[in-house]
Amino acid sequence: MFVAIEDVSFSYPNTQAPALDRFTLDIKKGEVISILGRSGSGKSTILRLLAGLERPKNGRLVIQDETLFDDKTFLQPEKRGIGMVFQDYALFPHMTVAANIMFGLSGMKKADKKRRMHEMLELVELEEYEKRYPHQLSGGQQQRVAIARAIAPNPHLILLDEPFSNLDAELQGKIRKDLREILKKANITSIFVTHDEKDAHILADRIVKLKDGKMDFVGRPCDMLDTF
Ligand code: ADP
Ligand code: ADP
Repeated sequence: MFVAIEDVSFSYPNTQAPALDRFTLDIKKGEVISILGRSGSGKSTILRLLAGLERPKNGRLVIQDETLFDDKTFLQPEKRGIGMVFQDYALFPHMTVAANIMFGLSGMKKADKKRRMHEMLELVELEEYEKRYPHQLSGGQQQRVAIARAIAPNPHLILLDEPFSNLDAELQGKIRKDLREILKKANITSIFVTHDEKDAHILADRIVKLKDGKMDFVGRPCDMLDTF
């Protein structure tokens, strides 16, 4: 399996119920997973554990044969090869679109960085916007730059937390479709969290439903319809 989450539990300090309770999920390369569930059901916690922002209480996390976490391993977040598109992880306002996308490419030669940046702008169809600053873009365009920035270093996995919540309804519809195309074209494995079933149905290969930190359902969007 490309991503393996095995029997992972986690509790925040000074809380009673676990935020995540013996959670297990295998993900294939290139698969798009959506995580659905009410507020407080543990969706963001899964992302935070994968990203290395929190340490599980027990269990195992593996990506492409590399152990991120087990009883003797904790791989630092920056070594995990995971890209993030979080609400509170916005674009750098004082940097152009180009600089934002190249920011995560340290270690590459300048010419290679530029080539990759142009590839990413082509992918998200913003070729003409390289010299603009974030405030000169629409909400949807900023969202696409954030996705380009996350994908640019060619991560194993990208995590998206409510990526559409700041956009108006019309734009949300368009971005959902665009995002699925972008992820599929780049063959990027991704997990995105949403509380909106419509998002999940349009975007995902498989949907995970959480309830009180536990897996409540996992299956294809069409299988989920049968549960109502
Ligand atoms: P969701 O993303 O589905 O809204 P979370 O993963 O953020 O849910 O939260 C799961 C549970 O953990 C909730 O009960 C929430 O109140 C609790 N929780 C989340 N963050 C913290 C925190 N920093 N400290 C204490 N409890 C937290
Ligand atoms: P969208 O339909 O994606 O929300 P908008 O209607 O917000 O787009 O914007 C339409 C066009 O105007 C876009 O090409 C965008 O880049 C440009 N634009 C929006 N806001 C600004 C701004 N403050 N400065 C310069 N260009 C802008």
